[in-house]
Amino acid sequence: MEQTRIRRLGQKCLILLAFALVIISCKKEDKTPIDTVSVIEPEEVYEFGFKLNDYIVKRDTIRKGDSFGEILQRNQIDYSKIFQIAQQTKDSFDITRLQIGKPYTLLCSNDSLQQPKCFIYQPTKTDYVVINFQDSIHAYSSTKPIKFVEKEVSGVIESNISEAFAKQGKSVLLAYKMSDIYAWTIDFFRLQKNDKFRLIYTEKYIDDSIYAGIDNIKAAYFQHNGEDFYAFEFETDTVRGLKDYFTEDAKNLRRAFLKAPVEYKRISSRYNLNRRIALYGNRVRPHKGTDFAANIGTPIRATANGTVIESAKRGGNGNYVKIKHNSTYSTQYLHMSKRKAKVGDFVKQGDVIGYVGMTGNTSGPHVCYRFWKNGKQVDPFKQKLPEAEAISDSLKAKYLKFVKPLKTQLDEIEFILPIDENQILDIQETSKNSITYTK
Ligand SMILES: [Zn+2]
Repeated sequence: MEQTRIRRLGQKCLILLAFALVIISCKKEDKTPIDTVSVIEPEEVYEFGFKLNDYIVKRDTIRKGDSFGEILQRNQIDYSKIFQIAQQTKDSFDITRLQIGKPYTLLCSNDSLQQPKCFIYQPTKTDYVVINFQDSIHAYSSTKPIKFVEKEVSGVIESNISEAFAKQGKSVLLAYKMSDIYAWTIDFFRLQKNDKFRLIYTEKYIDDSIYAGIDNIKAAYFQHNGEDFYAFEFETDTVRGLKDYFTEDAKNLRRAFLKAPVEYKRISSRYNLNRRIALYGNRVRPHKGTDFAANIGTPIRATANGTVIESAKRGGNGNYVKIKHNSTYSTQYLHMSKRKAKVGDFVKQGDVIGYVGMTGNTSGPHVCYRFWKNGKQVDPFKQKLPEAEAISDSLKAKYLKFVKPLKTQLDEIEFILPIDENQILDIQETSKNSITYTK
């Protein structure tokens, strides 16, 4: 009996084994994937610091008439809770500041209720505000990490610079950035046919793939009238974050002073020591400033790097700011509607220090720009404005070493001669040259 049982057991085992083998071999030969389906775990997706897989994600944009309360109410949150959220987050975020057209995201519970747990508002492509009411109610602002991708572009001018960039499928902003670099060197209204350029620049991306604009130009080459102009961006002061473009022999491409502190509509009154004004009985009232007429609210920019030595509202000057640039030069900006710089601030050329207004003695909106040289007011348009500082001797070796590989890289960018547009776009996909990095 015992033996038979063992034999039977053995037979059973054999049968089972054979059966298993059949199954295994079947599985091996089976071309249909039904037996071998493995469960594919959904990829984990993170955004705004949340694992989106844990939620039902609803995205929309703020529409006309929308308010924070209405959006939440539409999504089954009752008034008392909305009130509670608004109260407890009011110090971190003003919910009345939601702007029409800006995107928002609701993270909702991953069940049939789909209860909102989090409201995320994006005022810009990179900035977002999280109002979290999942457990405790709290709000905070954050910024999406930006990926910087290095790109190259080249072109040959046929008629104008914007067209040359457009033909390459490149943003006209890149053309503007380039013309800013060469503003003092090349007259972009007098370009010649066959002038050429090469650029190494960086683009910004959010969430790895969403284009967020041009970051900056790292290096540029422009050939105008057969002459070569190189420009390399270099940081000369890491504490103040001063960056400039320099030539291959370390000369600054910028002038120390901007021509004007505003984008002006017209110069309404020039520096004039013999000005007579009817209002004052036609007596001579010298005008030692230059008046740039511009709309109220137009940003007023520091024309050069310097330290703010006065920022006040006083008499005929109204709201004004005065900047000392060095022992020789100071500038002053009058009649502002609002000041945006205080005494002691270090400002860079182009920084906004206030806005055009009509404070003090003025009959229309303008900025009165006063320019001091060695303690005397002079006409800035009659000055041979100094070049901005060259690279110091101590930094020059570092600069030349930094520039060397960039110059080689620039020189190796091939010029693409425009043949037909589609073809150019094909060749232009030079992403193999792209280097991705985060700052
Ligand atoms: Zn004036």
